[in-house]
Parts: sequence; structure tokens; C-alpha cells
Amino acid sequence: MQSIANIHRSEKKRLVIIGGGFAGMRLAKRSLKSGMQVVVIDKNNYHQFQPLFYQVATAGLEPSSISFPLRKVFHRQKGDIHFRMAALKKVNKDENIIETDIGYLEYDYLVIATGVSTNYFGLENIRKHAVPMKTVSEAIYLRNRLFIFLNRMWNYITYDQSLRLLIRPKIFRYNNMTE
Ligand SMILES: Cc1cc2nc3c(=O)[nH]c(=O)nc-3n(C[C@H](O)[C@H](O)[C@H](O)COP(=O)(O)OP(=O)(O)OC[C@H]3O[C@@H](n4cnc5c(N)ncnc54)[C@H](O)[C@@H]3O)c2cc1C
Repeated sequence: MQSIANIHRSEKKRLVIIGGGFAGMRLAKRSLKSGMQVVVIDKNNYHQFQPLFYQVATAGLEPSSISFPLRKVFHRQKGDIHFRMAALKKVNKDENIIETDIGYLEYDYLVIATGVSTNYFGLENIRKHAVPMKTVSEAIYLRNRLFIFLNRMWNYITYDQSLRLLIRPKIFRYNNMTE
């Protein structure tokens, strides 16, 4: 595996932050004042403003209104800051090295701010059938599903029939766009 290219090693301490979410983004901006080299790594090249996912899922906002390119967030920052789009694979604590899908990188300090995943509280049926909403893509998926079914509802004659279409559990099966 090769070292991640074009991030020079100097006498400055290197802080590597995994995740450009609320926590990672804020920490990166603040840490620049400390004189460290800051490297932000995120599997996406954009920041997602999660509190507005509901508005995307209900077609109140365009996805582009709540996603911002991380390079744009950082490009006005003065200091030794770098961004790479990469997914963290492994942390080698003994050698202070992280491994990603684009190569490895040494660090002096490492912060992992990769957020959380959906908690189904051990309810297997919910995990299987519900649509999570932790990414913009999932919010768009939900929006598309709602549009499809709201449009289909017009073909049903009674209120009860159309309601049944909406609450039928299988219509919310996550991986089945064609249902
Ligand atoms: C629908 C919804 C509504 C919310 N509403 C509110 C609200 O009204 N008020 C409030 O205070 N909070 C709200 N929250 C919670 C808030 O958004 C989170 O607490 C906050 O985003 C957490 O920030 P974070 O930086 O820890 O993680 P995140 O913002 O999730 O960022 C994690 C980052 O890590 C990246 N990442 C993950 N895994 C890897 C990997 N292996 N390699 C590289 N990068 C990786 C991700 O791409 C992401 O950019 C809401 C959350 C959701 C989902």
C-alpha cells in the first residue's frame, strides 16, 4: 500500500481527522490556529447537514441546499490543511498509521469523528423493512418512494384503499424500488 500522495511531512505535528461532519469540520477549523498540519479524510467529498434531511425527504428542499463540498468549506482557511476523499479501513495504533482505500498516512494525533449508524433497538423487523435516514442518498430515496406512492394513490377509488397502499409494510422495503 502506498502513502497518500501530495501531503508533505514537515516538522509540524500532524492531526488527522476522520469525518467531515459537524464535529470533524469544526475541529479542523479550530485546530488550524494551533499551527498543526490538519488532514481531513471523509468517504464523501461533501458535508451533509443532517437536521434538514426531513425537508429533503419531503421535497421541501433540494439535496444541494443541504450538502456542501468539503473542499469549499476549507479552501478559505489559512494554514496547512488538506482534504482527501477516502474511507478509513484500519488504524495501526502501534505505528501511528491509518489505512484508507487510497493509501496510508502517518499521524501524530488522530480523531475519529465518523458519526453514528441507525439504531433499530434490536427490532429485526424494523431493521429489515424501515428506511433509514442518515445520509442525503437515503433522504432522496425516501422522497422518491413517497412520490411514487402518493402518485399511485390517485388510482385508488376510496380513502381506505389508498391508505392501505401507504401503510402496507412491504411498500417500504428498502431495496425494492420497483415494488
Ligand atoms: C434526520 C436527522 C435530524 C437531526 N436533527 C438534529 C437537530 O435538529 N439538532 C441537532 O442538534 N442534531 C440533529 N441531528 C443529529 C446531528 O446531525 C448529529 O449529532 C451530528 O451530525 C453528528 O456529527 P458528527 O460529526 O459526529 O457525525 P456526522 O455529521 O454523521 O459526520 C460523520 C462523517 O464521517 C464520515 N465517515 C463515516 N464513516 C467514514 C469512514 N469509514 N471513512 C471516512 N469517513 C467516514 C461521513 O461521511 C460523515 O461525513 C439529526 C440527525 C439526523 C440523522
